[in-house]
Amino acid sequence: MVIEMSTDIREFIKDKKRIVIKIGSSSLQHKESGDLDYTKMEVLVRELCNLRNQGKDVILVTSGAIAVGKKAIGLNKLEQEAGHLGVKQACAAVGQARLMMIYQKIFAEYNQVAAQILMTKDTIVNNFNRQNAKNTFTELLNMGVIPIVNENDTVATYEIVIGDNDTLSAIVTGLTRADLLILLSDIDGLYTDDPRTNPEAEFIEVVEKVTPEHMQMGKKSTGSNVGTGGMNTKMVAAHIATNVGADMIIANSSDIRIIHRLMDGRKIGTLFKAQNNPEFNMVEYVKNLHH
Ligand code: GLU
Repeated sequence: MVIEMSTDIREFIKDKKRIVIKIGSSSLQHKESGDLDYTKMEVLVRELCNLRNQGKDVILVTSGAIAVGKKAIGLNKLEQEAGHLGVKQACAAVGQARLMMIYQKIFAEYNQVAAQILMTKDTIVNNFNRQNAKNTFTELLNMGVIPIVNENDTVATYEIVIGDNDTLSAIVTGLTRADLLILLSDIDGLYTDDPRTNPEAEFIEVVEKVTPEHMQMGKKSTGSNVGTGGMNTKMVAAHIATNVGADMIIANSSDIRIIHRLMDGRKIGTLFKAQNNPEFNMVEYVKNLHH
């Protein structure tokens, strides 16, 4: 269900120049089988290419490495649950390559060059790594390439793990100075409480400034069980993205064409307004993130 609160338009969204779009595993898989939803991937890629064709810089943050790897290797449910970190990391190694193969194939159909960037917390916290990553993003975007980002799950042990792609996408937004972050999720946006358990929960159309109350609202919801991102991580993302000066929108991925509707300025999802807080130090914030 797509919630549209009113018919007037968020005009300023049309002028966004550099957009980070994050999609989670639960949005890319068929619920029943856990297999990839190629139709959704196809529509996603088409939407991204179309934004690129409008002259906008586009970055995709996608998960799915571990989920795709598990499927490819054919682990059963018990083995998956018993799986320690090494198993997950092996799955990610297989799955990330597969995921990219599929993305590359679809991007190529639209004559669009795509690249892979895998990151960990170290990429941000370490000054050399951060500068290098930043340069790479800049060059790729100058070349008109669409970077496809994920956490480097194969090497990210707990000391250097970011842990979820909501946070990662906000970090990428800060690193690349993007002006809009779109989090595609299995929920319409932010509610005052978890709408799955509380029918009284009210939808929030705009968040002028992320407050401790919003962070608290996020903590109450656990989100889906496929990806790692519930509302909690989305609020962390909102905190980072708005403080580095980007607007952020949470919107429902049930119909991926929501991307162009959002970019047309239609009032869908929850908009978190940019703060541009010069006192916010993203590197310090990331350093202190605990997963
Ligand atoms: N990086 C993980 C993966 O690709 C997922 C993280 C997330 O879902 O937030 O499997």
